[in-house]
Amino acid sequence: MTKRRHRNGSPHVVVVGAGFAGLQAVKALAKVKPPVRVTLLEQHNYHLFQPLLYQLATGLVQPADIAHPVRAIVRRHRRTSVRMATVSGVDLEARQVLTEEGGRFPYDFLVLAAGATTATFGIPGVEEHSFPLKSMPDALRLRAHLLHQFELAENDPSQIGQGALTVVVVGGGPTGVEMAGALHELFKHVLVHDFPDLDVHQARVVLLEAMDHLLAPFHPSSRGHALKILSKRGVEVRLGQALERATPNEVILKDGTVIPTRTLIWGAGVRAHPLADVLGLEQTRGGRIVVGEDLSVPGRPEVFVVGDLAGAPDGKGGLQPQVAQPAIQEARHAAQNIERTLKGEPRTGFVYKDKGIMATIGRNAAVTELPSGARFKGALAWYMWLALHLAYIIGFRSRVAVLVNWIWSYLTYDRHARIIVAVEAPRPAARPAPPPAAPAAAPSPAASGERPVVS
Ligand SMILES: Cc1cc2nc3c(=O)[nH]c(=O)nc-3n(C[C@H](O)[C@H](O)[C@H](O)COP(=O)(O)OP(=O)(O)OC[C@H]3O[C@@H](n4cnc5c(N)ncnc54)[C@H](O)[C@@H]3O)c2cc1C
Repeated sequence: MTKRRHRNGSPHVVVVGAGFAGLQAVKALAKVKPPVRVTLLEQHNYHLFQPLLYQLATGLVQPADIAHPVRAIVRRHRRTSVRMATVSGVDLEARQVLTEEGGRFPYDFLVLAAGATTATFGIPGVEEHSFPLKSMPDALRLRAHLLHQFELAENDPSQIGQGALTVVVVGGGPTGVEMAGALHELFKHVLVHDFPDLDVHQARVVLLEAMDHLLAPFHPSSRGHALKILSKRGVEVRLGQALERATPNEVILKDGTVIPTRTLIWGAGVRAHPLADVLGLEQTRGGRIVVGEDLSVPGRPEVFVVGDLAGAPDGKGGLQPQVAQPAIQEARHAAQNIERTLKGEPRTGFVYKDKGIMATIGRNAAVTELPSGARFKGALAWYMWLALHLAYIIGFRSRVAVLVNWIWSYLTYDRHARIIVAVEAPRPAARPAPPPAAPAAAPSPAASGERPVVS
């Protein structure tokens, strides 16, 4: 490939996205010899630690505990600059990244790491009426909505029968399992004391899974453990049950069962970020961008794709899973291949180093499986889960804050971050039918059950 040099002579690498993959790429690129200049483009001014989003949604941690300013993370890398910008496309011929803000960023190498988004599989009503859990606003919106439903039900207990205190979680993967477990703890250990005049025991958490087991990637004994613990704690686990459609007030299952609920949490699927759809590059199922073994796009050796956005081969005819470790390792490998290219050395193929899998179910309960075949469950697995997630949180302050929250919650059963910050109109599709009478008769958001969201 032709070597293009930036103004100061060093090759210029543009990295898109400051998630697990993008940040790892920046870190690895800072050590590349000969040195490269790096520009990191990120739509937010923070890196989000997605695995703890469910704790944000259930009041265990605060936003700043799981999000870290991107500039603070990369400021020690002298050759890296950051731009808060939303990438809208790439001019592959001119080798320029285009942003919604009107910027054009020329590159010698490009590392695309824009992550994934929620896939609703076209199920009617899910897009409009469900709560996804992919971003900070998603989690805060869900937290405010949940707390608001309890306030509504206390003012008018008849709302319980209309689903105010029923939460349906769709997807029995790690996200659905941890969410269901955490919701149950929030209701039974915290809100039961906050709402003494409300029969909180009527609150339901229903976990729907279309397959006949939870935690698909895990060993059957781990799956069975998760099912046993959730059921014992009061989560209604419905296996082999798929969602047919959703409305603002109920979900309808394929077998015709109707569950009144105002809270449908969608944890059933991911697809590549929509940026993948506008680049004109070949895509896999789920919209991921096809890459070769060296993680570059076929025919575009200067363009690498890593993390959830990449359809990186797993060497067994499938694709790498869309979780944190492959994202981190792919990013490191892409940086190494950039270095090899600059040195005139041949690139190497990416080989994933399996570090095991784990999922938390709730207090003192998790499952962990190591590549050696060793399996752990219960409190020991839970401590392993806590230690690993703490280690991966960026920033000492955040780590301490999360640890303090966890210890406090463990000792007191409290979840202190249960604040409804603001109430705003619901998303248009979820808006109830307009009131027929004069403005004075119009229900307030609190009375109508409209979705509160954090502004
Ligand atoms: C709720 C939840 C729980 C999870 N739990 C676990 C877990 O326990 N263990 C695990 O291994 N994995 C877990 N995952 C998956 C893991 O978080 C992802 O696999 C990982 O974040 C992928 O890293 P990434 O860098 O590819 O994408 P991301 O971390 O999603 O980062 C993508 C970045 O790109 C930015 N971006 C997107 N589009 C643009 C654009 N157009 N312009 C500029 N910037 C853009 C985004 O803002 C984001 O910062 C979880 C995911 C979720 C949602």
